Amino acid sequence: MIPFTSVRWSDALNYCTQCGSTVSRRWVAEDRCERFVCDSCRIVHYQNPRVLVVCVVVLGDKLLMCRRAHEPERGKWIAPSGFLEIGETLQEGAARETFEETGVIVRPDSMHLYSVVDIAGAEQVAVVLRTHLSAPPVIQPGPECSEVRFMSEDEIRQVELAWAGSTGDSTRWFFEQLRLNAFRIQLVNIAFRPGESFHARAYEIARSLDGA
Ligand SMILES: [Zn+2]
Repeated sequence: MIPFTSVRWSDALNYCTQCGSTVSRRWVAEDRCERFVCDSCRIVHYQNPRVLVVCVVVLGDKLLMCRRAHEPERGKWIAPSGFLEIGETLQEGAARETFEETGVIVRPDSMHLYSVVDIAGAEQVAVVLRTHLSAPPVIQPGPECSEVRFMSEDEIRQVELAWAGSTGDSTRWFFEQLRLNAFRIQLVNIAFRPGESFHARAYEIARSLDGA
């Protein structure tokens, strides 16, 4: 389930993963930044953003949406999403999250890249994939969802979306492209730092090399 909260998980390290001693924030000269360094064995603990995969499952003019069963953003709606596992491709991660949260089976090789989202303030990069179903699937909500259903643009407009303040006009953009059946790939920055605003740069897809 999508965890792009304002919690900085990188602040959570207390002990060295090599020797178990305490760690401290120390200036690392060659990297020109502070990192967690072991107080005993001096190992530097490198931390990097996590990869979040989001799967937009389309059936006709509707999208598969999940209602969050837990905090944060409990009761609000969002597309199937979650962190990529080690050893998993983006498409496999998106298919797994979709199945875990909704019971809907989607083929990893049916996924198309839709957008890449910078969520620097939450130490994450999200990759949004889309897949189009030709028939209504069996839905079986997972433990993280209180409700799962396909929703039209009007229906989505009437519910509360999770992290709505951070996602700009992204839902409206998707439906515009869906109506035209002309998708673009987008590079999106979600506003998290003071003074930043949500913005996106879209790239036309000239042609798809596999003909899809
Ligand atoms: Zn250590």
